[in-house]
Amino acid sequence: MGPFFTWKLVPGNLAPFYQSYIELAAFLTVILLGAAAMVVRRNRQVWRRVVQAVSLFVFFLVVSSCLGVFGLIRNFYFGLAWPGKDDLRAFYYMGMTVVVVGLAFNFGPVFCGWICPTGTLQEWTGALRTRFRARSTPIARKALALGVAAVVLAAFLVGTERVFRSRRPMLEDSAVLWASALAVITLFAMLRPKADRALKVIRYVSLGVILLFCIAGVTVTSPVHFVFSNVHDWASLLSTLVIMGSALLVSRAWCRYLCPFGVVLCGIGKHALTRVECGPGCTRCNQCAPVCTTGAVERGELDAMACTMCLACVDACPEGALVVRRPGVRERAEAAHA
Ligand code: SF4
Ligand code: SF4
Ligand code: SF4
Repeated sequence: MGPFFTWKLVPGNLAPFYQSYIELAAFLTVILLGAAAMVVRRNRQVWRRVVQAVSLFVFFLVVSSCLGVFGLIRNFYFGLAWPGKDDLRAFYYMGMTVVVVGLAFNFGPVFCGWICPTGTLQEWTGALRTRFRARSTPIARKALALGVAAVVLAAFLVGTERVFRSRRPMLEDSAVLWASALAVITLFAMLRPKADRALKVIRYVSLGVILLFCIAGVTVTSPVHFVFSNVHDWASLLSTLVIMGSALLVSRAWCRYLCPFGVVLCGIGKHALTRVECGPGCTRCNQCAPVCTTGAVERGELDAMACTMCLACVDACPEGALVVRRPGVRERAEAAHA
């Protein structure tokens, strides 16, 4: 595939080691911006969207190494071989993942809710869905859902055939395989919304497969790979469109059902120092549920394994019952009900 155009702002020869210093600096800037926005309570969701936009800009225009949701796992695994032998190489492979995982130990999976470009792209397409649902009849919604599903499936089949005709499956175009799984799972989830929780278990399978490939030394590419790398990869572009199309049918479908890195971050987030919890003031009004893009909260009950720490539910709760619990910080809800 020939290049569409070169969009990166930073050419490779400026960087000391594959641009990793520049990328890490840009990445840390996004995280600092996110941290500052998280503590602001007024218009927090507006600030979150600003951080997401800045982050997408940084990933698209600055980052050039593979920092997709597979790359962050694989690079860390490769990096384990280098500390003590070649620390610069170890830094290159492990630096970003260490930052994101360290962040999750402290603040939960904020990478998912505030920074990850794959999450942001889905959230933005999902917002179109929410807007349409609010203004349409059930029949129109079903017709649109079926129409989108048909277009996603048709585009996917045509694209896959084109990609696999000329390239090696799995090694070069593995993103398409995950995208095909996503298309099937999303259609199933759309038809059977009650299966949502069970389908989320598939993320563990996805993680297991990625780890097996890492151990076997097989490089598989992330579905949104082309956003990070200047690689002009049709398979990645196609997969990105499938991820965004799926989010029109089920919000953040990729995050919910297939992302291997998300399940790692949520697992860490479950035991993080900072967590969202429901206090005694909950009236079970369920106003928190519709604002959650991953179906992680229902009548004040949180599923930490699906939460992205976006804090939308905290901001939407009319009773102030949902709170961000941090060590040493007095709770709003406890203070209100003392
Ligand atoms: S679950 Fe995966 S794709 Fe979704 S926001 Fe988190 S890391 Fe990104
Ligand atoms: S919005 Fe608040 S009060 Fe209502 S169910 Fe959710 S946590 Fe409870
Ligand atoms: S449970 Fe709340 S903080 Fe977690 S993802 Fe849902 S809305 Fe965001």
